[in-house]
Amino acid sequence: MQLIVQKFGGTSVADASRMKAAARRAVDAHSAGNRVIVVVSARGKMTDELLELAYEINDNPSTRELDSLLSTGEQMSSALMTMAIHSLGSPSVSFVGRQIGITTDSFHTKARIVNMKVDRILEELSKNKIVVVAGYQGVDENDNITTLGRGGSDTSAVALAALLKADMCDIYTDVDGIFTADPRIVPKARKLDKISYDEILELASMGAQVIHVRSVELAKKYNVPIRVRSSFNNGIGTLICREVMEMEDIVVSGATVTKNDAKITIIGVSDKPGQAAKIFHELAKENINIDMIIQNISAHGLADVTFTVQKDDLSLALETTERIKKEIQAKEIVADGKIAKLSVVGIGMRTHSGIAEKMFKALSDEKINIQMISTSEIKISCVIEEDQAEKALNAVHDAFELDKE
Ligand code: ADP
Ligand code: ASP
Ligand code: MG
Repeated sequence: MQLIVQKFGGTSVADASRMKAAARRAVDAHSAGNRVIVVVSARGKMTDELLELAYEINDNPSTRELDSLLSTGEQMSSALMTMAIHSLGSPSVSFVGRQIGITTDSFHTKARIVNMKVDRILEELSKNKIVVVAGYQGVDENDNITTLGRGGSDTSAVALAALLKADMCDIYTDVDGIFTADPRIVPKARKLDKISYDEILELASMGAQVIHVRSVELAKKYNVPIRVRSSFNNGIGTLICREVMEMEDIVVSGATVTKNDAKITIIGVSDKPGQAAKIFHELAKENINIDMIIQNISAHGLADVTFTVQKDDLSLALETTERIKKEIQAKEIVADGKIAKLSVVGIGMRTHSGIAEKMFKALSDEKINIQMISTSEIKISCVIEEDQAEKALNAVHDAFELDKE
């Protein structure tokens, strides 16, 4: 008997017929003799609609109240999914995060899971029930409802799979698996049969929305096998797993572009020890994630420091840097929200050369200017103008011939 976690994303539970189709998958797996946990997202665009509603009522809603509101989308889905399973004649029970002790830190709207109590789930599984869990949510130590960041239901599913040592975590979504690039932007994108934890981790953290970054971190740490697959057909999808030898032969396995970042430049910082530490210490205190950082030394002992943050954090990051402007003796702070970050990823980069050159050439052929560059062992990222994002992604996809096997 295997333990299977099935996670259904928004489109996969958008209306009654899709909800029933998802319930059918859970019931089939259960009837085949498996123990089954289903994790659900809010239906369709529900989370966006709830957010819109909040901002209609208040321009600057409290994040605690936002979490209370947003978590209801998943709660609704979990009850409806359980009803759908009942209608197919199988026993099932639903839980919201709080009922199964999903405890998180207190960073509202981007909380991280710190603990989970699984006794109640185990008890219901032992009664042969399909357990349905509302994704994306938990409570902090003071019993405030929290959410795990957009796309966070994947993380709820993988966290459960990790803790309960599930045999498989199936992430059902609206595409056939993980592609070489977002198929909505690159028509020639090709579905991958397999991808390593490290590669999808880089792709997801660089904007490939197909899976929540934190879920891959957990999956890698606890060795959870994940399959990303379509809820609309019976394809086997893409397996996310440990790296195997032959993966090194593929130099670039995917490319991605994101418009979720913004760039801040602090101009004319006096160039002396401790300045960068001061700036990034203040930003860290506000829990602002920094991605790329560059510093140019200009003449007369003054340096310019440029870094990127998530767009959502831009105003807080600006406020924070303005607050210490005097202390670091900076002349000016400029923000640019109209950027895109383009990345190519592949574990073969460790052993092959010429990748950066090929990427830069593809961009230069399209007359796309590169504003910032950063690299890791298996990734190269460039900041470019936002308007050129789609063109740039297609250009690098072509340059690396990612459409070919
Ligand atoms: P769900 O609601 O099921 O969680 P998401 O919208 O979060 O679904 O993720 C699926 C979407 O991710 C796809 O519709 C696709 O457009 C997008 N996507 C981005 N990059 C990729 C990629 N490399 N491979 C597959 N899908 C991708
Ligand atoms: N409903 C949440 C969102 O839209 C979480 C999720 O779908 O994973 O971001
Ligand atoms: Mg998602």
